Amino acid sequence: MSSQLLGWRDLPIGAVAFLSSKEYPTGEWAVFQPKIDEKKCIKCGLCWMYCPDGAYRWDGESVPVPDLDHCKGCGICEVECPTKAIQMVRV
Ligand code: SF4
Ligand code: SF4
Repeated sequence: MSSQLLGWRDLPIGAVAFLSSKEYPTGEWAVFQPKIDEKKCIKCGLCWMYCPDGAYRWDGESVPVPDLDHCKGCGICEVECPTKAIQMVRV
């Protein structure tokens, strides 16, 4: 295995990341990032629950905050947010 990490453009179609984002920060290659409209957020925590990389920080009461160093920009949180408070924006 090469010791040099590949960028997302170098990966073949269907490639699967073999490390979690905890060990493999995504902030340098993510194309989209979630932006939260705090006025629309009802603090339900679904974004925190559904994020496949555990990228959201949430204390159970406040508006969840995505850690953009570990968000891969998949958009699942945007789809699952019941109030459309999350919008994926191009980096
Ligand atoms: S899913 Fe949407 S409404 Fe619920 S906590 Fe996250 S941003 Fe707020
Ligand atoms: S875009 Fe994907 S990885 Fe980033 S915070 Fe939302 S669900 Fe998590």
